[in-house]
Amino acid sequence: MQILQNLVEMTGHRDHLRLEVSVLSTLQQLPHVTYVRALELSEMPEGWVVRPRTWSEGGEMVTSGSDALADTQSQPLHSIAPLAEGIAQALSSFSHSYPGRRYVLWLPVWMHNKARTCVEITQSRPFSARRMEVLMSIFRVYQNYQSLLDYSERDALTGLLNRKTFEEQFIRFASLAANAPISLPELTGSSELPQQWLAVVDIDHFKQVNDRYGHLFGDEVLILVANLLRTSFRAQDRIFRFGGEEFVILLRSVTLQDAQQIFERFRRNVEAHPFPQIGQVTVSLGFSSTRLCSPVEIIGQSDQALYFAKQNGRNRVCHYESLLSEGNLGLKVAHEDIELF
Ligand code: GH3
Ligand code: MG
Ligand code: MG
Repeated sequence: MQILQNLVEMTGHRDHLRLEVSVLSTLQQLPHVTYVRALELSEMPEGWVVRPRTWSEGGEMVTSGSDALADTQSQPLHSIAPLAEGIAQALSSFSHSYPGRRYVLWLPVWMHNKARTCVEITQSRPFSARRMEVLMSIFRVYQNYQSLLDYSERDALTGLLNRKTFEEQFIRFASLAANAPISLPELTGSSELPQQWLAVVDIDHFKQVNDRYGHLFGDEVLILVANLLRTSFRAQDRIFRFGGEEFVILLRSVTLQDAQQIFERFRRNVEAHPFPQIGQVTVSLGFSSTRLCSPVEIIGQSDQALYFAKQNGRNRVCHYESLLSEGNLGLKVAHEDIELF
């Protein structure tokens, strides 16, 4: 009955993280469970890494969410050998018994053949068949509900976040900036300090792709560009499909110089990618700092930088504040051609 009540509570959440906290605290209450946590698995250039996202501490659930400490807590996936092995074999559940009566069960959440989340349950006694039944039932409810939430937040073609979720994610980003200690150079706008960035990406001459090869090929290009976006940015960054062939990126905690390099690298990745049948596709990108302005204003600024990139050869990355200080943006740009969001 307690579990049933917990399930009702679990599925009352409209937020991934709250759902996770709720599920883990349900698991934590089962007899002989000594420790539970949700692990986040991310693919980094140096290989897969794992970090605890939500865990039990003194009977309470603690979640780091996607906060600034995230990077420092991660460790290579292979440092937890049984976990790495189970993931490599794409198992739906696997366990390991450690010395000192510590029995650990892992339940990865598989999506598109990748596990980005894994629930870990530690008990003081082996997992009986009866216990496995209970755990798997709770886990299945959790998985179904996660994918339902996911479905409403993502664009069906590319799997990227949809525009509807932008505002909420932006507020989270802005609050990260607000919580960071503000020092004098930051107030004066030093380019040395890490901050948040917003970029608008638009595929160059995309209409020609559709006209020449048809919409199906156009859609294929969108999917491939989305994949390149996913592999070019980190797990903490956020990528949205905003409209037809326009994408928005929220880039976290890097300096201007790094932001420039990261966006450039993405631009080059697209330029160098062989698109089947079509060959080369390029993108233009405009970006701007997310400080001190509303989302609409920041998107407007990035859009102006994008417009400049389009007017000046395409296949390039332009930074709003730099264009402004170089006098490359008139106070008033002819707005007719900009697709205002
Ligand atoms: P530019 O370099 O100036 O951006 O040129 P462009 O041809 O990309 O310009 P524009 O933004 O006007 O064209 C966007 C085209 O994207 C128009 C529309 O046919 C196409 N499009 C929008 N959404 C989709 C989609 O979901 N699938 C496909 N295949 N095409 C789409
Ligand atoms: Mg466009
Ligand atoms: Mg375009």
